[in-house]
Amino acid sequence: MAMASSSSLKDIVGELDRDSFVTLLGKIIGESKHVQNNPPELVPREDRVARHVLDVLLPYSTSSGEGPLIVNHVSYVEGRGNIIVEYPGTVPGKILSFVGCHLDVVTANPQDWDFDPFSLSIEGDKLRGRGTTDCLGHVALVTELMRQLGQLKPKLKSTVVAVFIANEENSSVLGVGVDMLVKDGLLNKLKEGPLFWIDTADKQPCIGTGGMIAWKLRATGKLFHSGLPHKAINPLELLMEAFKEIQLRFYRDFPPHPKEQVYGFATPSTMKPTQWSYPGGGINQIPAECTVSGDVRLTPFYDTADVAKKLQEYVDDINANIEKLDVRGPVSKYVLPDENLKGRITISFDESMTSGVACNLDSRGFHVLCKATKEVIGVVKPYSITGTLPLIRELQDEGFDVQTTGYGLMSTYHAKNEYCLFSDMCLGFGVFLNIISQLEDDNN
Ligand SMILES: [Zn+2]
Repeated sequence: MAMASSSSLKDIVGELDRDSFVTLLGKIIGESKHVQNNPPELVPREDRVARHVLDVLLPYSTSSGEGPLIVNHVSYVEGRGNIIVEYPGTVPGKILSFVGCHLDVVTANPQDWDFDPFSLSIEGDKLRGRGTTDCLGHVALVTELMRQLGQLKPKLKSTVVAVFIANEENSSVLGVGVDMLVKDGLLNKLKEGPLFWIDTADKQPCIGTGGMIAWKLRATGKLFHSGLPHKAINPLELLMEAFKEIQLRFYRDFPPHPKEQVYGFATPSTMKPTQWSYPGGGINQIPAECTVSGDVRLTPFYDTADVAKKLQEYVDDINANIEKLDVRGPVSKYVLPDENLKGRITISFDESMTSGVACNLDSRGFHVLCKATKEVIGVVKPYSITGTLPLIRELQDEGFDVQTTGYGLMSTYHAKNEYCLFSDMCLGFGVFLNIISQLEDDNN
């Protein structure tokens, strides 16, 4: 039974059609200049890409064609729409979705590139241009999948949904993309089945990503001539000792987590300084203040909000007990009682904190993706990164079974001379069909 059903979908839909895929990708990459996301200078106009997707799909839509696709262009900001496409199945509530293909790109400076980033060029298997890997190549790929379903109408129990989103590359701006779709309940029914987030690279399931908190720690002391150090509060000494204490407490409260091995993370959670600054002045002058900045990289088994709260508690506790902090030599001190002065530290956070993601390794979605990857690509090697991937954690917290994969190349992600391989996109298309077939064989 399983084999019959699996092979029949492949017989009907076949494989990725090179001509129509490359034609669509050419039109989309031709718009990439207008969907660069770096406000306030560059605000993407995602509808310029969406228009080409709609041109391909609307002839097979219930709204302006003969069906069967249900196509919904949803905008919260003028010119910056999202698209939800649904191929209806026969069993109510049985559903799977491909989400996360985004219509915006990161910036590209043509002077740094060996070819024009804003038009598609083809060199053998390479499809070159801004967005080919991240994520316009996937936009064309998933559009082609939905077009073929709409045109060839294989009989499926599952409803297959594709969601193309605006504004993925700037998660500090809300109210444009997937956050609004979720808020409006437009994706609610996708919770009934696996959701495949198609926006990573290298053809393998990405099962874990990191969270990130950027912080600034500032020490205020008292400026004085360094020949009379007993009259100063040295903010550099204060900050070095305080930061060491904060790191010790961080590593005590957020130690390596046993699941990190299971997910294949290269490192546990870390907190480290990456920048120092002070106001300047002579070498014989103890300055009044200094600042150290850095980040926390967090594996997804800890919560970023918890960490931020703890860091603030460490700082408050150190300030309250500043005379107990280690000093550096006989006249080093952080309190000058005669002058009623105390050194002090403050911590602040960059507002865009990201939470990490750990995909559910027991879910049906994960098993289906692994089996499809193994069968189509030949090998399955799920990986994790402490880099960040925005938006997914929020979906997971809302109750979606999110799995992530993608068919671009990690080495060209957000880089100059971005490209993807047509052969990889073909494999991706095969994985999608394999996933749909496997879920047809489920008994629900
Ligand atoms: Zn992306």
